Amino acid sequence: MDPFTPQLIFFEPKALEYPLGQELKEKFEKMGLEIRETTSHNQVRGIPGDNEFQKYRNAKSTLVVGIRKTLKFDTSKPSAEYAIPLATGCMGHCHYCYLQTTLGSKPYIRTYVNLEDIFEQAQKYMDERAPEITRFEAACTSDIVGLDHLTHSLKKTIEFMGQTEFGQLRFVTKYHHVDHLLDANHNGRTRFRFSVNSRYVINNFEPGTSSFEERLQAARKVAKADYPLGFIVAPLYRHEGWEEGYRELFERLSEELSGITIPDLTFELIQHRFTKPAKNVIAKRYPKTKLEMDEEKRKYKWGRYGIGKYVYPDEEARELESTIRRYVEEYFPTATVQYFT
Ligand code: SF4
Repeated sequence: MDPFTPQLIFFEPKALEYPLGQELKEKFEKMGLEIRETTSHNQVRGIPGDNEFQKYRNAKSTLVVGIRKTLKFDTSKPSAEYAIPLATGCMGHCHYCYLQTTLGSKPYIRTYVNLEDIFEQAQKYMDERAPEITRFEAACTSDIVGLDHLTHSLKKTIEFMGQTEFGQLRFVTKYHHVDHLLDANHNGRTRFRFSVNSRYVINNFEPGTSSFEERLQAARKVAKADYPLGFIVAPLYRHEGWEEGYRELFERLSEELSGITIPDLTFELIQHRFTKPAKNVIAKRYPKTKLEMDEEKRKYKWGRYGIGKYVYPDEEARELESTIRRYVEEYFPTATVQYFT
């Protein structure tokens, strides 16, 4: 999987007032990419495509360089206290991705160059909670690693968190382009997580992302660079033969990681869920998907903003949870499962 290269780039004029904005403009010019101007990252017009489907595809390879004006961070339970907003949108094409609905009609990728403002705000949140640790999640609205070889804003955030007293950073990725992050001065304050899944889920639902092997090679490098490491197994999906499929995942994981010491390995487990609006959007964007989204087979769970989610019925969820917990215990007896949700 090659690193992401945008097909089209938009700049907010104000972004050029920041050093990172300038740097990116020069870089993209040198790369010979098409650059346009947009008044705001919230209303980008002119993404090519004759129909919705093509526009969506093209938006996923469009990068918008802008300024983050809203500096109130969202909460990010259960994995962190706050979501730190470095980027929005993703180049991947995972069928189940919740960004499909949360980003609505704006699936293009946005990166924010006013890092100083974002760090200042993060510091305020830390000060409010000190001496308690404040955890920031950097991958709530994007797969930030997939983009960072271009911007290095994640690297700067890792180094910023590294020198704080009460801050921690975490993010998750399906990309293996981590080399530039290996020498970051992280001070053990950043937890690097890779998203992994059974072969069936990766092959059927995760086009446009790095392969399992590539992710695992990257995980080895990250562990050797002394980052705290974890895996998010998500979405846990009950496909035919899932028990064997997930067992095989854990077998391969433990083989690939044998011989490396990972002091504080963590797993986070998230079962598959969907909302009604998501189901409609997915059907349009990935019409041939095999993703099962039958409301009849699921349990309805009330959600924020009145949009409920469909999760597995209690018994099936319990079975998923206990099976995966058993695999963790068997293959990684010293690891911690942080949560199942
Ligand atoms: Fe969504 Fe993550 Fe896939 Fe990107 S890599 S499309 S953020 S699930």
